[in-house]
Amino acid sequence: MFELTGKVALVTGGSRGIGRAIAVALAKQGAYVAINYAGNEAAASEALAIVREGGGDGEIVRFDVASQTSFEEAIDDLVKRKGRLDVLVSNAGIAMDQLLLRIKPEELEKTFATNVGGALWGAKAAMRHMMRKRTGRIVFLSSVVAESGNPGQAVYSASKAALLGLTKTLAREYASRGVTVNAVAPGFIATDMTAGLPEDVKKKIVEQTPLARIGSPEEVAAAVVYLASDEAGYVTGQVLRVNGGMYV
Ligand code: NAP
Repeated sequence: MFELTGKVALVTGGSRGIGRAIAVALAKQGAYVAINYAGNEAAASEALAIVREGGGDGEIVRFDVASQTSFEEAIDDLVKRKGRLDVLVSNAGIAMDQLLLRIKPEELEKTFATNVGGALWGAKAAMRHMMRKRTGRIVFLSSVVAESGNPGQAVYSASKAALLGLTKTLAREYASRGVTVNAVAPGFIATDMTAGLPEDVKKKIVEQTPLARIGSPEEVAAAVVYLASDEAGYVTGQVLRVNGGMYV
């Protein structure tokens, strides 16, 4: 089940955290994985080494997902060399947490350019190739806060909620072309993004989570593997919540 042998996948922000776990999990199922990163080459190389240790293969590719031209060039180059792109996982994301009254225009712009622009430009560049093959899987990484809200995360939660609209619209636009588009919405997951939170905040989050613990990147990756698989062929426009019951 969930066999991906012979398929080519691109994971944005695959160098660290959830993206790395996704890259490793897709490769374990047999996919060739292009691991995108923004600047941390050491982390990206380490992710690729883990992929290879597990018997998989892939490459690292540096570009800023907010740049439409860079994204398009990277996908075109990958398809030219590997002949196809079956799976795009738009995972790269940033959070610039701030209370409403302190939010600056550049924080809104950068967060939306990365989180929403990165997903949209990636889907646009991938879709042309996927439509031609009449098959493809696109998965966006949203967040529990897109639906629950969270004080201090007005910009971030709005950007993650935007991905749900994008998921549903693209699912409708490209279903007839054989491409499915879904979102995974993680709860609180142990990564660099959440490592800096104060202990009392982490404790409060765990108390609000019915499964009473923080999630792992691998638990999110498993949901992405499912949505990327042939077995998920009748699933599109959906939000798969991996949040320990934090929002139901
Ligand atoms: P993370 O540990 O902070 O890693 C972020 C990744 O994104 C890194 O690989 C980074 O590359 C890459 N990245 C950042 N900006 C980029 C850009 N402009 N272009 C290309 N790559 C870029 O994040 P994470 O916690 O794994 O989160 C992954 C995704 O899940 C994000 O979309 C996040 O919003 C979402 N999410 C996370 C949680 C959580 O609790 N952690 C919960 C819900 C949703 P470099 O290594 O080169 O910097």
